[in-house]
Amino acid sequence: MTEQEFIKNLTELNITPPSDALAKLKTYCTFLQNYNKHTNLTAITETKDIYLKHFYDSLTIIKVIDLNTINTLLDIGTGAGFPGLVLKIFYPDLEVTLLDSNNKKLKFLEELCEKLDLKVTLVHARAEEYIKDKREYFDLVTSRAVASLPILSELSLPYVKVNGYFIALKGEAQNEIQSSSHILPTLNSKIIEIKEFTLPIEESKRTIIKIEKLKPTSPTYPRPYNQILKDYK
Ligand code: SAM
Repeated sequence: MTEQEFIKNLTELNITPPSDALAKLKTYCTFLQNYNKHTNLTAITETKDIYLKHFYDSLTIIKVIDLNTINTLLDIGTGAGFPGLVLKIFYPDLEVTLLDSNNKKLKFLEELCEKLDLKVTLVHARAEEYIKDKREYFDLVTSRAVASLPILSELSLPYVKVNGYFIALKGEAQNEIQSSSHILPTLNSKIIEIKEFTLPIEESKRTIIKIEKLKPTSPTYPRPYNQILKDYK
């Protein structure tokens, strides 16, 4: 996807970029490509692929939520900042926290945010561990390409405020949706929307799952990671 195609597809998503957003993405793209030469951050390195599979893909979340109604966002397993940092660039009023267990990705994000003059909270931790500081704090938790839906639900929903949302960005997800039918009621949450579509140009399948938290989650969740894994192998 060229920058021109990216801009055209933003119009189709009804997104009007803030005046500095496209310049920020250009810097983001070049910095990611250069950094990736010495530190492995992503397998997607061609400019046109970064625009499609990282930048555009991150923004497709707006198919299921109006980000102007959200104040606090946590992106779990953000990696090189997807989708959380792209959303901050397009919705600068969001209070964004980017969490990842991999320190080299946090180091990259720290340098990038400095370069782009973006104020976000960067957290080097595992999702199961950071919970003690921020239980039921966020309006929205996002996650892309981190774990299967039942595992992610257990990691993410304890952070979500009552009446807030967890949104998972996935490829094909029917099996995962089915296998989360037991854990979601246990976490007092339910799927309220599933949006299936294909990415422009390459037409690979995408599924966005929007989950609402209806009541507080028991403080016994999330359980230690090895215990979660045992249930969802
Ligand atoms: N979300 C990014 C994206 O879509 O490009 C990165 C995806 S990458 C495949 C998965 C990331 O999740 C890695 O950076 C990894 O360190 C992080 N991760 C996996 N399990 C995690 C956990 N329990 N807590 C925090 N980060 C985790």
